Amino acid sequence: MATKRDYYELLGVSRNATPEEIKSAYRKMARKYHPDVNREDENASEKFKEINDAYEVLSDPQKRSAYDTYGHDAFDPTKTGGFGGGFGEGMGGFGDIFDLLFGGGGGGRRARSGPQRGADRELRMDINFEDAVFGLQKEIEVTRVEQCEHCKGNGAEPGTPIKTCSTCQGTGQARTVQSTPFGRFETVRPCTKCGGEGKTIEKPCSECKGTGSTRKTRRIDVRIPAGIDSGSRLRIQGEGEQGFRGGPPGDLFISIGVKPHATFKRDGYTLITTVEVDFVQAALGSEMNIPLLGGASHKLTIPEGTQPGDVITVRSKGIPYLHSHRQGDLKVIIKVTIPKKLSKKQKEMLQSFHNDEKPNKKEKGIIDKMKDAMG
Ligand SMILES: [Zn+2]
Ligand SMILES: [Zn+2]
Repeated sequence: MATKRDYYELLGVSRNATPEEIKSAYRKMARKYHPDVNREDENASEKFKEINDAYEVLSDPQKRSAYDTYGHDAFDPTKTGGFGGGFGEGMGGFGDIFDLLFGGGGGGRRARSGPQRGADRELRMDINFEDAVFGLQKEIEVTRVEQCEHCKGNGAEPGTPIKTCSTCQGTGQARTVQSTPFGRFETVRPCTKCGGEGKTIEKPCSECKGTGSTRKTRRIDVRIPAGIDSGSRLRIQGEGEQGFRGGPPGDLFISIGVKPHATFKRDGYTLITTVEVDFVQAALGSEMNIPLLGGASHKLTIPEGTQPGDVITVRSKGIPYLHSHRQGDLKVIIKVTIPKKLSKKQKEMLQSFHNDEKPNKKEKGIIDKMKDAMG
């Protein structure tokens, strides 16, 4: 864990600041770093939590005095032993702090007061090589939690009463008092009977069993653009989890995995394949039809004297560039095959070819030298 920053420093106040000064400094900072305001800034939520931690301690005279004496160790259970453990427990929870400050009592439902955007979701989709190259439109099913239509999300069977919770008297809060070496501290947690709602239901909704939400399967049209590659992420706006209290839904992200192809590979927008030719075709040159991805074929010219491993480039027969009319190249790697069985006539022809080649060689082989020596 990173070293904790000094609480006074965090709030930008002096060590002898008055409670009013601390409160006003906190308000300013909390407004500045509130995650709902600072959605773009990844560090805002961390910073916001730090500010809240600082305010929770400095706004409480007993905790502040413990902090002034022991520093952060005052709230570290590993440093203060058994007593500290009890103390530390009530701290640190994001919801608890919020409840403590604003009396929300929602147990972590920090945005209870206003609309909250739904969470983003991520799905993985594995597609065929060809579909990645040519694009694809596909309908997928996504299950998400939505507000129950039957009870409009309040969890009660329509027409039945919703009563004020008798345990918490509608506040939604349960208060517990803890004694610690630093004094007595009150912790506010959500009421267990009503779950912090402050209300109890006489007859739970028959559709959602009182939860106020249901799982719904939605069909979504996914358009996968031609040329997409493994590791790409598609964003489908508004198809993530539902928002709360009128907040917008989150987004759905689909991360694409492309399955390998038996005969084609890709390197960016370059399509790569291997073609076998026999050594005569390679030596004399030839023309042959090779299959292209997607079923078409292409007449490939193999030049005379092609060597094993040579690469022939076919322009614009590769992968289409995303959202463009350009197309990458096709690279054909030439594999030269050597026959394993030859007829007598073929052997004679090859031998005579070999003998013709001999005068061109500067160095004779050992066998030839021996043959020469033996006459
Ligand atoms: Zn319901
Ligand atoms: Zn209650």
